Order: sequence, then C-alpha cells, then structure tokens
Amino acid sequence: VRIGVPAETAPGERRVALVPTHVEQLVARGLRVICEPGAGLGAWYRDDDYRAAGAELGEPWAADIVLTVTPPGPSQVERLAPGTVLIGFLAPATQGEQIQALRKAGVHAFAVEAVPRISRAQSMDALSSQASVAGYRAALLAAEKLPRFLPMLTTAAGTVPPASVLVLGAGVAGLQALATAKRLGARTTGYDVRPEVADQVRSVGATWLDLGVTAEGEGGYARDLTAEERASQQQRLTDAVSDYDAVITTAAVPGGRAPTLVTAEAVRAMRPGSVVVDLAGESGGNCELTVPGEETVVHDVTITAPLNLPSECAVHASDLYSRNLVELLGLLLDDEGRLSLDTDDEIVASARVTAKEPARDEEDD
Ligand code: NAD
Repeated sequence: VRIGVPAETAPGERRVALVPTHVEQLVARGLRVICEPGAGLGAWYRDDDYRAAGAELGEPWAADIVLTVTPPGPSQVERLAPGTVLIGFLAPATQGEQIQALRKAGVHAFAVEAVPRISRAQSMDALSSQASVAGYRAALLAAEKLPRFLPMLTTAAGTVPPASVLVLGAGVAGLQALATAKRLGARTTGYDVRPEVADQVRSVGATWLDLGVTAEGEGGYARDLTAEERASQQQRLTDAVSDYDAVITTAAVPGGRAPTLVTAEAVRAMRPGSVVVDLAGESGGNCELTVPGEETVVHDVTITAPLNLPSECAVHASDLYSRNLVELLGLLLDDEGRLSLDTDDEIVASARVTAKEPARDEEDD
C-alpha cells in the first residue's frame, strides 16, 4: 500500500499531514510513503528529513491512500483514481458539493471532523488536537495585542496588577486558552453554556462565570439557544464583558453559525485598549463586530479573528495531526498492512463521508 502526502495548496496553510517520525513508523510496517517535494517545508520538515525516514519523493495523488490537511481542489480530485482512500479535514458540513465530487470519482473519503468523539477515538481526534493549538495561540495573541502586562509585576517603578482574561466557550480550545493565559500570569475566568465544564474551568485555575443559561446538546456539544435564551445571555454578557482586559471567544455549535456572544454594545463598554480574540471567525464569529480573518479597532478595542491559528504553530500542529491520522490509518489497514475497510466499525462508518447519501436539500439544489 502506498501512502501519498501532498504539499498543501490552501492559502496560508503551513501544516503537513504526515511528519517524518510517523513516515518511519509506517515504512517499518511495510508501507510505502510518497511525499510531494516540499510537502513539509511549511512545517519546517525538509525533503531530506522525509527521505531519511524512508519516504520517496514523487506524485502523491496516485497513491492508494492520500493524507491531506485541507480538502483537495477540483484539479486534485481529478488525479485521484477510483478506490483511492482520502483522509483529511474535508469540511463535510459545508462542502456538500466537494464530497459529492469525491463520491462520483469513486474515492473513499474520510473526514476527520466526522470521527465520533468516543473514548476509543480520542487518539484520532484531530478537531481536539488542532483546537488545543488554536486555544494556546489565542492566549498568546491576546497577550501580544494587549497594551498591558499579563502577570502582576512588582518593580521599582510601581506594582502592575495582572490583566484579566475572559474565555467564552470552554471546550477544547477555550480550556487551553485559559490554561495558557493563567501560565502567563493573567487572572482568568471561563464561561460556557454547558454547566458540566465548570469543574474543568476551575481545574485550570480559572473562575467560573455563571450566567444562568444552560444549553447542553447531544454528544457533549452545546445546542443552539432559543431566541429568549440568546437575548438573556447577550444582556448578561454585555454587563460582564467590560470587566475584562481581554476576551477570547471560542463558542461553536456543530454545523451551525457561531452564536453572537459579544455585541457591539458590549464592545463599546470595554475599556480603551482592550482586546477581543475571536476564534469562531470561520463560522461567522462570536463578536458582532468581527471581520473574519481581519484585525480591526472599533471603539478603541482591538478585535482580531484569525482563521487558521494551528497553521501558525505548524510544527506541533502537524505532529499532533499526523499522529491522529496514523491512529486512524490503523483502523483501515489489516495486520499485513493491506487496506481493509471494516464498515461495521463505528469510527470507520462515521468518518467515511462518501458512503452516506447526500441530504435531501442538497439533492434538490
Ligand atoms: P466546540 O468547538 O463545538 O464548541 C466550543 C465550546 O463552545 C463548547 O464548549 C460549547 O459548549 C461552547 N458553546 C456553544 N455555544 C455557546 C454559547 N451560546 N455560549 C457559550 N458557550 C457556547 O466544542 P469542542 O471544544 O470541539 O468540544 C466540546 C466538548 O465535546 C468537549 O468539551 C467535550 O465534552 C466533548 N469532547 C469529547 C471528546 C471525547 O470524548 N473523545 C473529545 C473532544 C471533545
């Protein structure tokens, strides 16, 4: 079995799907790995590192299994032979047409976003590994954009109080942002609509902000709020947000638009020089004034909504993602290293997005 590792072509994408350490492990299991020249350069892995690990340099799209970070473009899909296995972030919730194109091309496409979040799949959970990286970088970004120190400092010129950081949405990214801001010395507070995360927030040294709105959904996720709950939450947050120097927002609802948590009114009430780091830019943003992918200054508050923070931490983001893919590959290969798709396996069945029929409204389009 040949495993292909293409160079990512999405603008700004620096990650690579398989890193040299894992190439070595796969080659030791009798697999061949074909890397596109330069595939790892964005993540600071050289072609020589891949060669030394046992990879060949060549055309990755002709392999039996192709590993990517971002979804392939139309010209890349054309290069995939029927029966090829493709694994990557394929955005099945929003890229229905792309998935349909892969299905038509006879490709077995596995979207890492669709790996179920069950205990057995934890080591394959690429959403979590990349969210951790994003949360860490979000805290650093808040620290960098704030015109203040994060830690309390006692100097000959006076004592500086610690900055206060509020994190809205305490999932994987939010908890990592809280932990990182705490390590930098900030006073941290966390909020979520799922009350069960209160203990996790406290476990990373933060105070739990209780606004009296709970919205547990299925599978450990939050559900959409009703209009009434949303209004109540926005009002309470508007009152709370002005107490903080930095607000990091990470709230998401699976497949839906990100909830608006920080209104324009709330931003206006923040102190000059405050910062909002909005990690939900890709799904519209958690701040009413967010411009996805941009940094703006409104009412003297810096609002920044980076779209791909994991790419900015490309070495470790790639290492963790690559590990997730190797674990997932373990489910798709038999003991002799041959491809064997066990469609009865819950993880294989859920992640294989080309096996499912398109939703009815997609067909109607
Ligand atoms: P996510 O990215 O979908 O959302 C981020 C956070 O935003 C969530 O904690 C969510 O509750 C919160 N949120 C949504 N709407 C909100 C609103 N209106 N106001 C405030 N907060 C809001 O979530 P995620 O980080 O990918 O994961 C969420 C949870 O899934 C985890 O905390 C965990 O419980 C579960 N999970 C389980 C596993 C596993 O068992 N293998 C792995 C990862 C995550």
